[in-house]
Amino acid sequence: MSEFSNEYPTHDPGWVQEMHANHYLQSWSKQGRKPPVITGAEGSWFWDSTGKRYLDFQSQLVNANLGHQHPKIVQAIKDQADKLCYIGPAMGSDVRSELAALMTEITPEPITSTFFTTGGSAANELAIRLARHYTGRSKIIARYRSYHGATGGTLSLTGDPRRHLTRGDMPGVVRMLDPYCYRCPMGHTDSANCPVSQGGPHLEELLMYENPQTVAAVILEPIVGTNGILVPPDGYLQSIRETCDRHGILLIFDEVMAGFGRTGKWFACDHWDVAPDILSSAKGINSGYVPLGTMSVSKTLADWLKDYPLPGGLTYAGHPLACASGVAAIRAMQEEGTLAKATASGEYLRSELAKLADKHPCIGDIRGKGMFNAIELVKNRDTREMLVPFAAKEDAAAPMSEMMKFAMNEGLYLSFFSNCIRLTPPLNISREDLDLGLEILDRTLEIADEHYQL
Ligand code: PMP
Repeated sequence: MSEFSNEYPTHDPGWVQEMHANHYLQSWSKQGRKPPVITGAEGSWFWDSTGKRYLDFQSQLVNANLGHQHPKIVQAIKDQADKLCYIGPAMGSDVRSELAALMTEITPEPITSTFFTTGGSAANELAIRLARHYTGRSKIIARYRSYHGATGGTLSLTGDPRRHLTRGDMPGVVRMLDPYCYRCPMGHTDSANCPVSQGGPHLEELLMYENPQTVAAVILEPIVGTNGILVPPDGYLQSIRETCDRHGILLIFDEVMAGFGRTGKWFACDHWDVAPDILSSAKGINSGYVPLGTMSVSKTLADWLKDYPLPGGLTYAGHPLACASGVAAIRAMQEEGTLAKATASGEYLRSELAKLADKHPCIGDIRGKGMFNAIELVKNRDTREMLVPFAAKEDAAAPMSEMMKFAMNEGLYLSFFSNCIRLTPPLNISREDLDLGLEILDRTLEIADEHYQL
């Protein structure tokens, strides 16, 4: 067999890395990297071609809510592949209809109808276009510390510092501050007195300058994911909801990362019983086994769409393999009590993190809901000086890189952002694996402690 044979699984790992470095373009990265070659995964673990195993405390971009290779999802994809791999989006399909019905069952009450996309960006892209068509207005309000996607419109809405790498050039984006109470942008220590943390007052002031009649929608992650797991204070989402309603502005909740049990409820907004007009999702819907996202709308919008065409479409909308995997994943979560597991494991995780904070002065803040958590690392707890600055350049982020390498070497796959470590293991991770991860994290944090300045 020649060195370049395509017969699986004969590739030499060195060849795989070589091709990765020279011919594969990797998201958001400088190219030329040679990562470990992953050859398999199961549950909360994945492993590489050297046989090294990694405990997945990230769930692969917060996708694998049910862990890797969940047998019910894998079987559903195989069964669907045998039956029907593809049929155009305008045709009826049992798995498509079943997933649409399941979405209606688990989303907040006013949501009745769903468009299936290939991921989160496509879902948000359509959400903002629909909001503009429906309202006849053009501006979209998004928050600074947000991630909404990497396509033209969604990148423009994204506040993640990586958007500076490339220009999001959609006009009409207005920015709002985030209720980031550990580092209040208004300098408040009490969220009850802070217009930003209350939500509505800050939005109302923005609208005074922007003219509410020009604003189509507010888009936000009910709990911010990529930018450091920011949980809003109670009352925040309600206050935003009421302000939007007063001005006929649609509210879009981006639940791409926080949805499908990640926070212990089907959707993060369920913690506060606040419903959006449009809800976007992806990732946990099928643990990411096949590309799938959703844009779901309220009955009011769904009724409107009976008279006006949906302003978008995709070749792979409602792809049967994706829908089959989504149905299997949601049913598995219902059958296996995954939401309750996520709630219990999340509480345990945060209580153990609190114990680590007693030991590691570098832990400035612990926050999260369910299995959607972060710790924020500081050089000094009193001043809250960050271990590395927000949007740190690679050299400034040296301690974080060192920690990442140390943890990987010890077999723990963590997720780093600025001065935060996000902890988002699979929702069904065992207590034993959770403890193992925490033990490695404990040793990893010693690196940050060395940078602590009294
Ligand atoms: N919204 C949020 C909240 C996300 O976290 C992401 C991806 N991390 C996206 C949108 C974009 O999703 P995708 O990468 O599937 O396009």
